[in-house]
Amino acid sequence: ALNTPNQRTFLDLNLSDDLQRAIDDMGFVTPSPIQSEAIPHILAGRDVIGQAQTGTGKTAAFGIPALEMIDITDRSVQTLVLCPTRELALQVADEIRKLSKYKRGLRVEAIYGGDSIERQIRALKGGVHIVIGTPGRVMDHMERNTLKLDNVKMMILDEADEMLDMGFREDIESILEDMPDERQTILFSATMSKPIMAMTQRFQKDPVLVKVVKKELTNQNIEQVYFEVKPKAKGEVMCRLIDMYDLKLMLVFCNTKRKVDEIVEDMQIRGYMAEGLHGDLRQSQRNNVMAKFRAGTTNILVATDVAARGIDVDDVDAVINFDIPLDEEYYVHRIGRTGRAGKSGRAFSLVSRDEKFRFREIQTYTKVKVEKGVIPSFEDIVG
Ligand code: ADP
Ligand code: MG
Repeated sequence: ALNTPNQRTFLDLNLSDDLQRAIDDMGFVTPSPIQSEAIPHILAGRDVIGQAQTGTGKTAAFGIPALEMIDITDRSVQTLVLCPTRELALQVADEIRKLSKYKRGLRVEAIYGGDSIERQIRALKGGVHIVIGTPGRVMDHMERNTLKLDNVKMMILDEADEMLDMGFREDIESILEDMPDERQTILFSATMSKPIMAMTQRFQKDPVLVKVVKKELTNQNIEQVYFEVKPKAKGEVMCRLIDMYDLKLMLVFCNTKRKVDEIVEDMQIRGYMAEGLHGDLRQSQRNNVMAKFRAGTTNILVATDVAARGIDVDDVDAVINFDIPLDEEYYVHRIGRTGRAGKSGRAFSLVSRDEKFRFREIQTYTKVKVEKGVIPSFEDIVG
């Protein structure tokens, strides 16, 4: 759950009226723990390391103070946010735009690969206050001199662990080296590792560590169940689960791009509205898939872990692990897409004999014993 008792309210944070109104419009009542802890430090000008799992509201934790500090009359880039993927950059831009609803004249731009660079250059020329970008494309603009960072006052590294995992370390370092020294550097990450600590030591000044880590890595709102299934029967079992539990919106994870295509095709043949998301799709195709999923015209999104990084869709009833992930942390990330903001969710794992060992390791890692479920029979479904 995002909210726990005895918390400060947004009013206690003394935000400007326009920001408070936007927060009200968004329906946020109480700040999440990471928000109520991190926002005062960021507003006070401190460098912050924020550690919290996915779905805990990290975007607003940096978006709110960033917006408080922008001088709208100065049409130069004052805040730079780096994100691991284009989907995440778009999502962060979207959330910051909502928060800035009543800040007239404030310009936010997402810049990422796979989108027309000319369009981005035109947008940047027009004067942008907050840039949200992926490291590669930000570097590209810096090299072309189409993105000037000499007026940046706040630098945010969102999902820093993911960015390092994806090999963006050198890009991030050269971007940081090219920025004014008198800036604030904020780093958010779900996990803390040695390379991240090294990075904060090198690029942050006396940072405050704000840590909101629950005892269990996985959220209690999520009902976790696994089913023992032969690899060939996974498609059939998944359909039975969808019908039996009347699942409306779900994310299906598998380990390879090819599998994404296979599952989508199989599900479509079976009459389900499924679409795939993986790295080989063009940006316009990905945007299209996400738009359909958000609108509910597609209710099954099949994705690889990399493609699904950072995507935020509300009200996912269930996450289905069609394949068991190769990495324990992926399991945590995957199932963290359901049961958000205090709602309940289901996480179903289809485990074949070869995957049993890995699934046991995942349970050791998350310290949660996952119940074994009974595969619905044909009669269960037809009633
Ligand atoms: P994270 O970056 O930690 O994974 P997000 O910033 O994407 O989390 O937030 C997850 C969801 O929670 C989003 O849909 C966001 O709009 C919502 N949210 C964020 N802060 C609050 C809040 N204080 N109250 C209610 N919902 C919130
Ligand atoms: Mg986030």
